[in-house]
Amino acid sequence: MILDKFSLKGKVAIVTGSNTGLGQGVCKAFVEAGAKVVGVSRRPSDETAQICGENFYNVLADLSSCDVIPGIIEKTLAKFGRIDILVNNAGIIKRQDSIEFSEENWDSVIAVNLKTVFFLTQAVAQQFIKQGKDGKTKGKVINIASLLSYQGGIRVPSYTASKSGVHGMTMTLSNEWAKLGINVNGIAPGYMATNNTQELREDGERSADILARIPAGRWGTPEDIAGAAVFLASEASDYVNGFTVAVDGGWLGR
Ligand code: NAP
Repeated sequence: MILDKFSLKGKVAIVTGSNTGLGQGVCKAFVEAGAKVVGVSRRPSDETAQICGENFYNVLADLSSCDVIPGIIEKTLAKFGRIDILVNNAGIIKRQDSIEFSEENWDSVIAVNLKTVFFLTQAVAQQFIKQGKDGKTKGKVINIASLLSYQGGIRVPSYTASKSGVHGMTMTLSNEWAKLGINVNGIAPGYMATNNTQELREDGERSADILARIPAGRWGTPEDIAGAAVFLASEASDYVNGFTVAVDGGWLGR
């Protein structure tokens, strides 16, 4: 039955940035779809734990360094015994005019949004391969990209570089791993009402300009990416490889 293919029953997912925003929305959707979820966050994900219940486990880690990666894998395996899905959602944005953009604003964004995403994905893919049976591996990686994987943005050069990198890396990893049974795909959210866009939404002029350009006529919410996330994490997407799905209220089509 087709709806069974969307079920995440028996699957174990790691979702980074689980304490708020889109990550919290993905955790909720995955638990509702039957998965057990390890949420990785640098601040406690207490609200997410309350929403998700006993099938959610929080691992505290600061993803600005790759040193935390072995601990995330070990704690997930100790708690739930396996890993089937990784959602690279944690991300930061720094806004400053490019003419004076600081090295710190460059390095911090590239570290969290790109470097750790690659090395956490590599570590999880190695675990997928270890778990493989009869020469067959299975695993799903979902990278949270951005409209700025496709467009330039304004005053956010490190963010645009990182999210363009995430989009490219999604294709590279897919080219190498699709044949192994590992699906690497992405979601490019549009303008979503979360902490990430608080500064924009508080700027009356920018906020009105953005809203006027969204064909759907509203900002997105964490619930809006839930369907695409469950699809890309499930068997229903087994022949979808290296693609980044826009969930943007029509922004990119305009
Ligand atoms: P958000 O509310 O700011 O959430 C970002 C998440 O990343 C938070 O959980 C944050 O934790 C976590 N994070 C940041 N730095 C971290 C670190 N060093 N270690 C561990 N966790 C860290 O924004 P969001 O909108 O939900 O963003 C989720 C993803 O979607 C990001 O990759 C973002 O770039 C992407 N995105 C968002 C939009 C949008 O319009 N909102 C559009 C396109 C793409 P703390 O709360 O502790 O900082």
